[in-house]
Amino acid sequence: MQDCSPRAIVEADVDAIAHNFHLAQQAAPDCRIIAVVKANAYGHGLEQVVRRLDVEHPAFFGVANAAEARQVQAAGCSTRPFLLGPNPPTERAEIAASGWGFTISSIEEADHFASLAADAQRVLPVHLAVDTGMGREGFLPIELSEALAHLQGLPSLRVDGVMSHMPVADEDEVFSRAQAELFEQCVREVALHAKPRYVHLAASAGLLRYKIPCANTVRPGLMLYGIAPVHCAWGKQLRPTLRLRAAVTLVRSLPAGHSISYGCCYVAPHSLRVATIGIGYADGWRRHLSGKRAHALIRGQLCPLLGRVTMDQVMADVSAAPGVQAGDMAELIGPSLSVEQLAMQANTIPWDILTGLGPRLTRVSCSFS
Ligand SMILES: *Cc1c(COP(=O)(O)O)cnc(C)c1O
Repeated sequence: MQDCSPRAIVEADVDAIAHNFHLAQQAAPDCRIIAVVKANAYGHGLEQVVRRLDVEHPAFFGVANAAEARQVQAAGCSTRPFLLGPNPPTERAEIAASGWGFTISSIEEADHFASLAADAQRVLPVHLAVDTGMGREGFLPIELSEALAHLQGLPSLRVDGVMSHMPVADEDEVFSRAQAELFEQCVREVALHAKPRYVHLAASAGLLRYKIPCANTVRPGLMLYGIAPVHCAWGKQLRPTLRLRAAVTLVRSLPAGHSISYGCCYVAPHSLRVATIGIGYADGWRRHLSGKRAHALIRGQLCPLLGRVTMDQVMADVSAAPGVQAGDMAELIGPSLSVEQLAMQANTIPWDILTGLGPRLTRVSCSFS
């Protein structure tokens, strides 16, 4: 049965995501876009996001694993998935058979994919990953010539892309500029042996901050979801894309001195109207938000959350919001309750807050404007 009155819900404005996609395109006008939709489209609901973005013809949809690539395919998209990171041997046969984009970082992966491709009598396009500082994937620049020579002996693979990833695009300009230069040298070396169609280095922060002349493709994730990881003019034009709401399940008055939630860390200083809200850390409403002055918006009023976040429920002081009753929806993330602010309060980063929004939440698409 369809959950038509969900207790806690993520509303995604997919047109706002498309708007942000166009801003990414304007910020990197000469580049194709790999629209990153991994982790359930950063919590927004993968299916509804890829259906909307498919219309904009990205170069690929960036995903983390074969299961996510399958979800993109099941949504009926004409845009192919691209696996952003290295793939374990167990997923490679499916990847080789599917036509999905993927990277190789080692001779071992190259040989494995080459033999899978040869068995199927196919030539597989691959993106060569180079490690220019991330330390997570890719051939080291000094290994590149040997790798390219090895690939010459693997006719079932064709180098279709060169990629790398920036670890400090949002923090360290000296490092990032040196990295972009090193990447350009690598691209030049690859170009002596192959004609890669896709050259990509930048995610959101990199594309907003740097012009990388040798690149013709970018991989924005976070900025599609309305958040700029660096201060820039584009940031102000991004539209918010996600609202998180949960039902008030109970409203009561508690007397002064009554404690609230596990640990009894919060004690009512005077009598309070307290609402219990049906969302908790099992939904991705972080336990680290306990005691951090996070708020819920209920009946237009910002209501402080009280005490520790529990697995399925959290309490709010609704003394200043008259008329609150069970069944009201409390907004926890939205245009006026930013993910950035929450991330700060929970001692983490916006990516972590968004991708932590759990499978128990219902996802719908709606328009905020
Ligand atoms: C997740 C990821 C991205 C997207 O990063 P954002 O900072 O969210 O834009 C881009 N490239 C790779 C390789 C990734 O893993």
